[in-house]
Amino acid sequence: MKEKLVAVTGASSGIGRAVAKAFAREGNPLLLIARHMPSIPDLAGAEVTYAEADVTDYEAIEHAVRAAETRWGETECLVNSAGFADARDFHAVSHADFSREIDVDLKGVLNCTKIVIDAMSRRKSGTIINISSISDRKTAPAAVAYTASKFAVRGASESLREAEGKNNVRVINIAPGYVKTNIHASMGISFEQYCALLGNPDFMSAEMLADIVLFCWKLPQSVCIRDLVVAPTRTSF
Ligand code: NDP
Repeated sequence: MKEKLVAVTGASSGIGRAVAKAFAREGNPLLLIARHMPSIPDLAGAEVTYAEADVTDYEAIEHAVRAAETRWGETECLVNSAGFADARDFHAVSHADFSREIDVDLKGVLNCTKIVIDAMSRRKSGTIINISSISDRKTAPAAVAYTASKFAVRGASESLREAEGKNNVRVINIAPGYVKTNIHASMGISFEQYCALLGNPDFMSAEMLADIVLFCWKLPQSVCIRDLVVAPTRTSF
């Protein structure tokens, strides 16, 4: 049987990129989305459509999804990984900055979900996997808008799961903490500075998290891991 289309946002880096490689190993055709989305050398030979689009741009994402679906069929799985964190004191964050963070981290998830959910409900099959954060349930004084966005992502995941379970659509909220990626780059700091900011915790690899995402996906469609918190063992956050 031909494998189904998997769309991954934030696929140019970190968790999204590792998730893309994990799904490619399973033989799924992929739609990989980021604002800057170069082809990934490890995926040479895989069935991949690359799209450069901002998750806040609903029309651009819809265009990318429909174009990929023309090639590979309707989207069976969407992994919402695009996002960034602004770990500054709220006094230092402008109105434009926190608005943008909420637009990307929360509304980006809703935008991409909205584009694929109708067909999933109609087909009575599909999976939405939201890469939320452990910050979707734990507060942090230096990440006010990020924490607010992720609390809302968790709420949206749970609400949508309650709505769509009857349609055999899975909505899976994954809440990681401390994954080694490039998330520090959007803060304009080095990985070393980022570690120091966090109190030098352990980190898990993006590949480890991608394997967990794949595990959730590969369970039978009749089984849904609703919410999964995962972080390095030696952390108290
Ligand atoms: P990275 O910075 O490594 O990757 C972020 C990805 O998102 C990039 O591909 C980036 O590409 C894309 N992206 C950012 N903004 C947009 C946008 N507006 N539209 C489309 N794509 C966008 O970070 P991570 O892999 O760590 O982050 C992925 C997700 O994981 C985020 O939602 C983050 O909140 C979450 N997370 C990360 C944790 C960690 O410890 N790293 C812990 C908990 C959650 P481009 O800039 O080209 O658009």
